[in-house]
Amino acid sequence: MGIIVCKFGGTSTANADMFQQIRKILRASPDRRYVVLSAPGGAVKVTDLLYRYWQKRAEGRDGSAERDAVALRFRKLCADLGVSGMEAAICRELDGVRTAAHAASRGEYLCARVFSAWTGIPFVDAAELVRFDPDGALQTRQTLARFRAMARRLPRAVIPGFYGSDSQGSIVTFPRNGSDITGALAAAGTGASLYENWSDVPGLMSADPALDPHAQRIPSISYRGMRKMSAAGAKVLHPDSLAPVEDARIPTRLCQTTHPEAPGTWISG
Ligand code: ASP
Repeated sequence: MGIIVCKFGGTSTANADMFQQIRKILRASPDRRYVVLSAPGGAVKVTDLLYRYWQKRAEGRDGSAERDAVALRFRKLCADLGVSGMEAAICRELDGVRTAAHAASRGEYLCARVFSAWTGIPFVDAAELVRFDPDGALQTRQTLARFRAMARRLPRAVIPGFYGSDSQGSIVTFPRNGSDITGALAAAGTGASLYENWSDVPGLMSADPALDPHAQRIPSISYRGMRKMSAAGAKVLHPDSLAPVEDARIPTRLCQTTHPEAPGTWISG
């Protein structure tokens, strides 16, 4: 078929069982070659802990509870997966944080490092791929060129979502839930024929299922229609993730990690 880029959200990376599920999904199609991961989520989101950790440090308060909670989360993930040798990286990354963005990005960074160590799929740091201006604006052309170069070099890769760097090497993050944007850029840059966005919902719903028990899955929608749904409050996909794939004429499929055989929602045209 061609290259498929898969992005997995925080509930899909929440624990070792979900990591197993991701690997099963990747094994089901050899076209799923590039994987973008969010930081582990679930009831407590690693990214929230990291922001709190940084906030406390910046205010001169003790942030060790948050730091240790994140370290424990990754230690448990490694132990459950049988991954060894990550302890030094966990401590180095959490103790060496320099800015709020740098701190927040460590969730994605460590998640992708653990996944790479576990699967043997090469790790590529998003700091080397996603480029921002000094004022924080994404440099789309440069970013796409870097993904293109990566794809020429590596047939497969696991890439942390949510962040990149500026020309000084400082980490810059997208807005919250921005790993969707990394995934879309990866799809456009690698010349993918499909961008799969995997999460904990069955696809785009006609209404919020928490509020409306009659909410229905929408099987397909145009990018234009999806932008309208986003503007009306649909949260399934970050709105800034639409342009890179729409411009490159790549369809997006919204899929549910726990039900990989379900059709999901197709966004195209
Ligand atoms: N981990 C980040 C967040 O919680 C980014 C993402 O998951 O897309 O917002």
